[in-house]
Amino acid sequence: MRVLVVEDESVLREQLSSALIAAGFVVDQAIDGDEGLFYGHNYPCDAVVLDLGLPGKNGMELIAEWRSAGVNVPILILTARSAWQDKVAGLEAGADDYLVKPFVMQELIARLHTLIRRASGWSHNLIKCPPYELDRSAGTLAIEGVGIELTRYEYRLLEYLMLHAGEVLSKTSLTEHLYADEAQRDSNVIEVFVRRLRSKLDPDSTRLPIETVRGAGYRFVTPKQQ
Ligand code: CA
Repeated sequence: MRVLVVEDESVLREQLSSALIAAGFVVDQAIDGDEGLFYGHNYPCDAVVLDLGLPGKNGMELIAEWRSAGVNVPILILTARSAWQDKVAGLEAGADDYLVKPFVMQELIARLHTLIRRASGWSHNLIKCPPYELDRSAGTLAIEGVGIELTRYEYRLLEYLMLHAGEVLSKTSLTEHLYADEAQRDSNVIEVFVRRLRSKLDPDSTRLPIETVRGAGYRFVTPKQQ
């Protein structure tokens, strides 16, 4: 899952980024409102952590611009304690949740997981596409209740595919969700991970959970159970 962090205080921005990376997110960092706006429009992400008090365009303006441009990504706003009333305005402008500084990092990560789940139409921590079951709090996969070992990248890719089960996902969008660093992105790598996932999810080639859509990308075809 890819998260955009827009925060001008460098110490907090770094703390946020390392905590999110440690929790398995891919992180983009923006140091002010203008950069945040640029990322939000050009790099699709799964959630935004947005400080309201920013140089350049402030957080409230970003929310308004994204929402009016149809960017529906879940937004978690950060507000200074002295400006707590801003959170009301932020929520009214279209933010989804807020935290008042200082906050506990685990709380922020838990809130982000909830926001992303809700935005994807999932109401709990398990993504079930029987016989596949992904436990997002533990970061594990089970097939008919039997645990399967996945590497970090395999897990990330599968999580994204299962969250969007039934949708065609381009190799480009998949690589963007796997790698923060553009220099590391190579859509050929996705083919390798898909092949490895297929052999783990479907060793006998009987279920064919991941369909290749020629010229378009991949689709997780095993239906999800709500
Ligand atoms: Ca600030």
